Amino acid sequence: MKFEFLGTADTGGIPLHRCQCEICESARLKGVSNRSSSAYLELDDGSVILFDAGYDLLCDRFNKKHIRAVFLTHFHADHCFGLIRLRKSADTIICYTPNDTQGFGDLFIHKDSIDYQVLQPFEAKEIEGVKIVALPLLHSKTTHGYVIFTCKGVVAYLTDCASIPESSLAYLKAQKIDHLFLDAAYTPYFESKKHLNWESAGEYIDAIKPKNGYLIHASCKTLLPLHVKKIRLKYPYIEQGFTIEV
Ligand SMILES: [Zn+2]
Ligand SMILES: [Zn+2]
Ligand SMILES: [Zn+2]
Repeated sequence: MKFEFLGTADTGGIPLHRCQCEICESARLKGVSNRSSSAYLELDDGSVILFDAGYDLLCDRFNKKHIRAVFLTHFHADHCFGLIRLRKSADTIICYTPNDTQGFGDLFIHKDSIDYQVLQPFEAKEIEGVKIVALPLLHSKTTHGYVIFTCKGVVAYLTDCASIPESSLAYLKAQKIDHLFLDAAYTPYFESKKHLNWESAGEYIDAIKPKNGYLIHASCKTLLPLHVKKIRLKYPYIEQGFTIEV
């Protein structure tokens, strides 16, 4: 099975509108556009499970694909605005969410084709032999990360968190995680109560000890100092299109 990132950036994406920094100019030269953090798992029968829906072109990208479910981490715009078009789908699409009665915009008023179902912390769902567990994370909205168990390995998709609660950390340490993707939205020079930075995220990855650790959810402002100072981090930031076999 294939697990691919549709986007690994923060809300503004890279290139950021009108930004002329080296990171954004380089992305323009390459013709790439890295959007908000979201990913999908392609099952052996070609259907897909989405993790977040912040990618605005979901309908086009998966026009010919059966979407088995969306596992939403939280209702911030950069993780759910793809649902605004997807809700007009001819299919009914289950969207698993953390318990957030507000949601985003008018998504709960006009649910249309989306069947929202709340997952409790540590609740598991199984789809075609793939087990997905909701993991509570601390962020400015009720947020889940997801741990994905396939027959070949374990992936942890942990975007948007200021910290990992003790119970979640203990759970992660008890698994044999092959690939861990973790929010590191900021540099360590910027204090945030909403997101981790590359230093605090690196410390969590060291503690969890996955086979491979990666950083996500960066803006160009986070990546620029690394680029300018030629800093190589222990765990790399990944870009859109990053794919693993699981
Ligand atoms: Zn920029
Ligand atoms: Zn968020
Ligand atoms: Zn976000």
